[in-house]
Amino acid sequence: MRDGDVAQWVAGLGLPGLVDLHVHFLPEPVLRKVWAYFDNAREHYGMDWPVHYRFDEDERVRILHGLGVVAFAPLVYPHKPGMAEWLNDWVRDFAASTPGAVPTATLFPEPGVETYLARALADGARCVKAHVQVGAYDPRASELDTSWGLIAEAGVPLVIHCGHGPRPGAFTGLDVFEEVLKRHPRLTAVLAHAGMPDFDLAFDLVERYPNVHIDTTMVGVDFTDPLPDGFISRLAGHADRIALGTDFPNIPYEYARQIDAIAGWAEANAQLGDSFLRAVLHDTPARLLGLTDQADLR
Ligand SMILES: [Zn+2]
Repeated sequence: MRDGDVAQWVAGLGLPGLVDLHVHFLPEPVLRKVWAYFDNAREHYGMDWPVHYRFDEDERVRILHGLGVVAFAPLVYPHKPGMAEWLNDWVRDFAASTPGAVPTATLFPEPGVETYLARALADGARCVKAHVQVGAYDPRASELDTSWGLIAEAGVPLVIHCGHGPRPGAFTGLDVFEEVLKRHPRLTAVLAHAGMPDFDLAFDLVERYPNVHIDTTMVGVDFTDPLPDGFISRLAGHADRIALGTDFPNIPYEYARQIDAIAGWAEANAQLGDSFLRAVLHDTPARLLGLTDQADLR
């Protein structure tokens, strides 16, 4: 599949379009810095990472719409204190002016975090992003405890990058994040990248906590590590807890390759098939984002 084929293929499944729970939009100066980081990926990750969709903001939105993405969560995240509240205001305004974009929020362990997070949720944020590796903070930090509680009560999904991939951080590890889940077992957590590289641990958390999900971001594409044996059969056991995520636009390949990977899982297991695809590509991310009425899914 190529990008030009995606929208039609999705329509063929009987879906109104894709709902992508994990894409990134950022204020222009921040995005430039992220792209500069990927330009030096050999130094950071030991491999090249040519960002495929290095276009201006309007063009990136047009590309998503052209792929048949009807709703998406533009995720923002800070790498230092004093940044999250500003990002939250920026992404609220971005979502208000961009068809298909759902308002999101982020956080950082710092004084006042529960105040700005509560305000973002009251303003309509439908998804929260936390990036344990980039933020280099401990998700168990006492300053975050009230915020995890607020997110759990609001019932909005927390998309959290807490796995060791692509490079471990000081506080990455699904075992570390599980200590947060033990305190907040109702939290609707979405393990970004399916917990890469600890896929089995991610499925263990899905089994232990009723509201833990995983997203597909960069999982199973030939850029990342091969999937372990048994991955697809574990998927089949939790088909309603998997949501489409892609990391658009910062991926070093076409968007279609992620869709191809997911389609490959559906084909490989008779328990999956088209109903799995409809759940992953649309229904589950739409449910997580609270997009129940058709007006939300234009
Ligand atoms: Zn991401």
